[in-house]
Amino acid sequence: MNQIHIMEDTLANKIAAGEVVERPASIVKELVENAIDAQSTKIEVTLVEAGLSSIRVTDNGKGMSEEDAIRCFERHATSKITNEYDLFRIRTLGFRGEALASIAAVSKVSLWTSDGVEGAVVEIEGGKVLKHQAGALRKGTDFLIQHLFFNTPARLKYMKTIQTELGHTIDLLNRLALSHPDISFTLTHDHHEVLRTSGSGDILRVLSDIYGVGVARKMIPFQKEDADFKVKGFITLPEMTRASKNYISLLMNGRWIKSYAGTQAAIDAMHTYLPIGRFPIAVIDITADPILTDVNVHPAKRHIRISKEGELLSLIKGAIREAIQGVTIIPDAVKKE
Ligand code: ADP
Ligand code: MG
Repeated sequence: MNQIHIMEDTLANKIAAGEVVERPASIVKELVENAIDAQSTKIEVTLVEAGLSSIRVTDNGKGMSEEDAIRCFERHATSKITNEYDLFRIRTLGFRGEALASIAAVSKVSLWTSDGVEGAVVEIEGGKVLKHQAGALRKGTDFLIQHLFFNTPARLKYMKTIQTELGHTIDLLNRLALSHPDISFTLTHDHHEVLRTSGSGDILRVLSDIYGVGVARKMIPFQKEDADFKVKGFITLPEMTRASKNYISLLMNGRWIKSYAGTQAAIDAMHTYLPIGRFPIAVIDITADPILTDVNVHPAKRHIRISKEGELLSLIKGAIREAIQGVTIIPDAVKKE
């Protein structure tokens, strides 16, 4: 007797959402990354109760047509890749075509969008379209997420305090702003502005917007490249450190990545100058041919695989070491070693 059937889309989306939509910050991540991929220059994030009540992301990007505004909520719906060739040369932050389907499966989503010629308003809840209507609005896109996890009570229960959830979003937006200094970001929480970056394109200015001008003043630039990678960024002098490694941000082709080895390379480069248990604040911006990277490791795309990783790590270490040695007065004892 046959027992297998293909599950309904709404159920499949809800299951996929378990991986993609962990907390409010995961939604902000997906919506802001979409806004970045849509070539926005201004992205505004507005949260009520850290996003547990509502999340709004407004951009001035290329927007969507009426048909796309409905289609974007379907599973595997994407405008970013079309074939396997593209899969190995990803230049956008998204490509899996599952974020919006997953978000809409576990919340109520209202979308206003226009590509400048046509546009639409769409409302969808628990994966079901409640209404859609044509309408030409200003060019850009506006997503409003409410009733988060209304149909997944176990996930809702797992949410931490407002402060913790807000902390996750601030952390995320800091990193997105660092990886896109040419975009102006604002984060407003319960009517208070939490973050604002100018979008001037100057990464040191973003560092100053995030960590304060005192930190930015203690940072020095580094840069080094070989045939495969280009590494550039800023790192604090040994006198400006933190008790956590979390202030070392790595970016690969405009995507913030988690890389234990990359973080360690930066620490190793400064090793002899750092007090025990203290770490620098740094942004390490790596450019590589996308063919050398595999971002399709995890749905959130935080961990990536890098070919020639050893070569990249030496380049990071070399770049930082040279910059630090250029400005630091090395104590005699160290010189003699
Ligand atoms: P992916 O980003 O992997 O393509 P998503 O589910 O996040 O998948 O989005 C589906 C599609 O919806 C995108 O490929 C894009 O065409 C469209 N889209 C989503 N957000 C925006 C936006 N802010 N501006 C323009 N288009 C968007
Ligand atoms: Mg996306």
